[in-house]
Amino acid sequence: NMAIIAGFSVNGVAKLHTEILEKQELKDFYQMMPEKFNNKTNGITQRRFLAHGNPLLADWITSKIGDGWITDLSQISKLKPLVEDEEARREFMEIKYQNKVRLAKYIKEHNGIDVDPHSIFDIQVKRLHEYKRQLLNILHIMYLYNQIKEHPEMSFYPRTFIFGAKAAAGYLRAKETIKLINSVADVVNNDRSINGKLKVVFIEDYRVSNAEILFAAADVSEQISTASKEASGTGNMKFMLNGAITLGTMDGANVEMYEEVGADNIFIFGMSADEVIAHEQHHDYNPYDIYNNDEDIKKVVNQLVDGTYSHNDRELFRELYNSLLNPQQGQVADRYFILADFRAYANAQKKIGVYYTNKSAWAKSAILNIAHSGKFSSDRTIQEYVDDIWKLDKIEVNTEGC
Ligand SMILES: *Cc1c(COP(=O)(O)O)cnc(C)c1O
Repeated sequence: NMAIIAGFSVNGVAKLHTEILEKQELKDFYQMMPEKFNNKTNGITQRRFLAHGNPLLADWITSKIGDGWITDLSQISKLKPLVEDEEARREFMEIKYQNKVRLAKYIKEHNGIDVDPHSIFDIQVKRLHEYKRQLLNILHIMYLYNQIKEHPEMSFYPRTFIFGAKAAAGYLRAKETIKLINSVADVVNNDRSINGKLKVVFIEDYRVSNAEILFAAADVSEQISTASKEASGTGNMKFMLNGAITLGTMDGANVEMYEEVGADNIFIFGMSADEVIAHEQHHDYNPYDIYNNDEDIKKVVNQLVDGTYSHNDRELFRELYNSLLNPQQGQVADRYFILADFRAYANAQKKIGVYYTNKSAWAKSAILNIAHSGKFSSDRTIQEYVDDIWKLDKIEVNTEGC
């Protein structure tokens, strides 16, 4: 509160986030001093996350449109006409494949797990937090595993699900989620009956250096926070710049990525921020209704406490189970609407599996993501700070003799 009163400028880091601040969290302050409030959507640097992290793709882009994008990312839009070129689409997919081979080697070295670079690389890397919903992702993997076991004949494009996340030291539920991911990985990766259709990998020590390798190799970018909870996100932008297709909720900067790239080139699912906020205000969400009316969901949630992934220890994941259905005093059941969004998420995942079988269409969407990533450079963000908040003049730097 003191920062807002004493501060000169108060900004939200994405358009949706700024609106939520103005209408909910900081409503009183906004009414008193609306002129202080503004929006500066976050950005990321293309020097680190494309030029340095993905040299194969960077060189390919430069060969097509020159190297102006390195200091002016708006120029990346010059890639747009290229999407009609079938040869360019094949070249892009070959580069993505090489980057997946690079990540597969990293995984073999660090995890000892064999993953197939021909499978869909579906990646969620970010801090471990309940609102980011790594639990939704892993519950869906448990669901897919059940489906494959029950219907071995069903058509299914092989997937490699990759997680990377650190949990804060005292955040027990986050650590339990990491434990669950690794426990599901142990079962799924070692079940030879599913013919390698599913692999699950947890990357240790997620950090910028290994993040570069992950972004470059991603087919699918998981940005599945409960709508209204993610202020902006920047991982979402790094994936987009590297030609991954976003699977996400209408939250944070995903909303602006959707506006830039268009509905055909992003997979959006789930409740809106307004719907989430309305349920929170009316206290009218009961996850038991969903649990009781959807057999697949019921089975997956029960598997948290029937020993399937815990060598028959029914207590190991009891706390996670309780977080969804039996909240402890002062808590809310399924506070982050995991069960409410589960079906919509599973349906979006299904669409992704089908879409990927059309490599040419997939490549077109992926290249369009890169071509529409210009807005998300931190150069643009910083320039807006300079123009609208700091009001700085440009200084000419004499580079002679450098
Ligand atoms: C970009 C980045 C983040 C932020 O990721 P989000 O998906 O936006 O939460 C966190 N950690 C590392 C190492 C990153 O590179």
